[in-house]
Amino acid sequence: MAKKTRQIAIYGKGGIGKSTTTQNLTAGLAENGKKIMVVGCDPKADSTRLLLGNLSQRTVLDTLRDEGEDISLELIMKEGYKKTRCVESGGPEPGVGCAGRGIITAIGLLERLGAYTPDLDYVFYDVLGDVVCGGFAMPIREGKAKEIYIVASGEMMALYAANNIAKGIERYAKQGGVRLGGIICNSRNVDREAELLRAFVKELGTQLIYFVPRDNIVQQAEIRRKTVIEYKPDSAQAEEYRKLAKSIEKNKKFIVPKPMTQERLEQILLEYGLMDVPND
Ligand code: ADP
Ligand code: MG
Repeated sequence: MAKKTRQIAIYGKGGIGKSTTTQNLTAGLAENGKKIMVVGCDPKADSTRLLLGNLSQRTVLDTLRDEGEDISLELIMKEGYKKTRCVESGGPEPGVGCAGRGIITAIGLLERLGAYTPDLDYVFYDVLGDVVCGGFAMPIREGKAKEIYIVASGEMMALYAANNIAKGIERYAKQGGVRLGGIICNSRNVDREAELLRAFVKELGTQLIYFVPRDNIVQQAEIRRKTVIEYKPDSAQAEEYRKLAKSIEKNKKFIVPKPMTQERLEQILLEYGLMDVPND
């Protein structure tokens, strides 16, 4: 029986830890022999840096600009840690054109060049998600990724973005089969963070798929261009990422989220003591 490739989009506010988490998660799955492609959909183009190590990866948009339309798959897809296939869409110069155009171009080109081979267990799209609009919705809008995880933390702006992303998912779930698989908390060591996240996911109708602790070993690995799993395979943080990988692998709970109003979100934040209000 042909296996089915799980295509997964990872969304979340800029700087929340999408690329770090996605690559460590990928390394955890790759250790277990899974075949994976990671498609960076952030104009920052650093979604595959830790998997590629010292290899440099030109973005799809830059490659097309330099080499013209007639290019081979090898030019835009490089092999990283444990044979993971790495692609960076790229984006236009800041302030020029649609930032989501790179994603549209990259996915189309990957399809034409036969990158979506049936032996793939997973394709991850690492997508900037402060806004789920236009090009940024591309991986889910076109029905490529049916499964979404949102990376968030206990900080207000992270939850605000996550709720907005849930609104986007709800919209596309109506026309396609896209579902939310859960929220990944990438901890910022906010007080009562796990409790707050649990209240947040309950309201959305989803689950907290994993709580990733904050640890400086992530930065130590990052400056060496490595995932924590590659840099310190025996560390506690590497084990956390393996557990995250396992819980995504086993996940069966996929839902259409019920995003909340701004008022309700603020109410939840207040309940957990996040907003500093004067005593009255
Ligand atoms: P995004 O892709 O969402 O923009 P990144 O993955 O680039 O975010 O992460 C932003 C920064 O946060 C990185 O410099 C990374 O080292 C740091 N970081 C991410 N996750 C953790 C963690 N669990 N512990 C410590 N630092 C982290
Ligand atoms: Mg990133």
